[in-house]
Amino acid sequence: MKLDILAFAAHPDDVELCCAGTLIKHSNAGYKVGIIDLTQGELGTRGTAEIRALESSKASKIMNLSVRENLNLGDGFFSLSNENKMKIVEMIRKYKPETVIANAIYDRHPDHGRASELVSDGCFLAGLVKVVTRHNGEVQEAWRPKVVYHYIQDRFIQPDFIVDISTVYSERVEAIKSYSSQFYDPESNEPETAISSKQFFDSLQARALELGRIIGCEYGEGFTVERIPGINMLSDIK
Ligand SMILES: [Zn+2]
Repeated sequence: MKLDILAFAAHPDDVELCCAGTLIKHSNAGYKVGIIDLTQGELGTRGTAEIRALESSKASKIMNLSVRENLNLGDGFFSLSNENKMKIVEMIRKYKPETVIANAIYDRHPDHGRASELVSDGCFLAGLVKVVTRHNGEVQEAWRPKVVYHYIQDRFIQPDFIVDISTVYSERVEAIKSYSSQFYDPESNEPETAISSKQFFDSLQARALELGRIIGCEYGEGFTVERIPGINMLSDIK
C-alpha cells in the first residue's frame, strides 16, 4: 500500500502528543496516513507494552490510519546502527510516502533525538539504488520522500511552519486520551510521573493555543524542516 504521509515515533504516543491534529486533518481530507513506532514504550513507568499496544490501536482508529507498525527496536537503547537504518529504509520503500514526519531534532528524552536522526538517515539512504533491501523476499525499489518534517516535543523548538488544527482539536485530544495509562486520568491508581499530571495535560493545550495564536487561528501544531520549503504563490501562505 502506498501512503501519502508516514509518521515515525520513538514511542507509541509521541505522534499523538505532537501532531495527531495534523494527521487527523489529512486523513479526514482523504490522504493515506500511517505511523511506524520504533519501540513499544516498554520502559515507561506506567502501564505495560501490552497496554500501550491496545492504547495505540485505539488512537489509530481515531486518527483514521491506513497502517501502523511497530519495529520493536528496544525502548531507551536503540542505536543508530546500520541494521536499524536498513529497517527504516525498508519501511520507506514499502510505503513510498511523499511526506515523512519524524521525532523532534532534540528533546528531554534522548530516544527522540536519536529517532529523528535514524529516520532522516533512513529517508536519504532509501533513495540510493545501490542500497539493496528486500521485503518478503522481493528486492524493493529505491524511494526517497520529497520532504522530512520534525514535530516539536517536550523542549520548545522554534517551528519553521505551523499547521492550523482548530477544526480537529477535539479529535486530537481524544487520540491523546487513548493513552489513559500514561496521561492524566483521575481514575488511575498508577504512580504519578512527569507526564501524568493535569498540569501536563493543560500544558499541551497551552502549547497548541500559543502556536495557533502565532498564525491567527485557535489551535496549531508546529514543525521544523530539513530544507527551506518552496511555494508557488505568495497567497499560498495562510
Ligand atoms: Zn517519546
